[in-house]
Amino acid sequence: MKLILFGPPGAGKGTQAKKISSHYDIPHLSTGNIFRYNIKNQTELGKKVKSILDAGELVSDETVVALVVDELQHDKYDNGYILDGFPRTIPQAKALDEHLASQDDSIDLFLTLSVPQEELIDRILSREEGRSDDTPEKIKTRLEVYSNETEPVLNYYKKKGIVKEINGMGSIDEIFERIKTELDKIS
Ligand code: ADP
Repeated sequence: MKLILFGPPGAGKGTQAKKISSHYDIPHLSTGNIFRYNIKNQTELGKKVKSILDAGELVSDETVVALVVDELQHDKYDNGYILDGFPRTIPQAKALDEHLASQDDSIDLFLTLSVPQEELIDRILSREEGRSDDTPEKIKTRLEVYSNETEPVLNYYKKKGIVKEINGMGSIDEIFERIKTELDKIS
């Protein structure tokens, strides 16, 4: 099962991706987590992307695509995966398509979590991960970047007919039940 979990910052992608990963036993690939890990460990990649994440802007398509394509080569992704935070731009979506097509492969399902904007801001401000991009000003930038660059990705996948919209309001378990209903149809 190859999934994309999509939605604005604060929609709960990371939380739900973890639950899907443990329930269906497929790995969770979060580009944001990979970047934060590299920043924390002061790797070359971390040094390159730190100021970009701090500003709430997007890392270049070239960097992200190379990272994901490289990561997906590992055996652990052979039986499926959940992509979280990628693709986030149309060029990234096209690059992923090309990569998968070259291996005669494709994404099975694109789940988009819908949550109203006011709720997103409340959720981000109340989470306690201490992320440097979780401040009111950075959240504003991230939501703008989302609507300008990332939301078009939803239409790109709608045209492929693999999008399922999930109501992202309610408890973590209620939302996970909605996701399971969709995933159980395809697994
Ligand atoms: P959120 O969805 O809550 O904003 P993420 O953990 O997915 O958080 O991403 C955090 C940051 O990492 C983004 O604001 C961006 O700077 C960078 N990032 C993550 N994924 C991508 C991507 N696919 N393309 C470009 N930048 C990315």
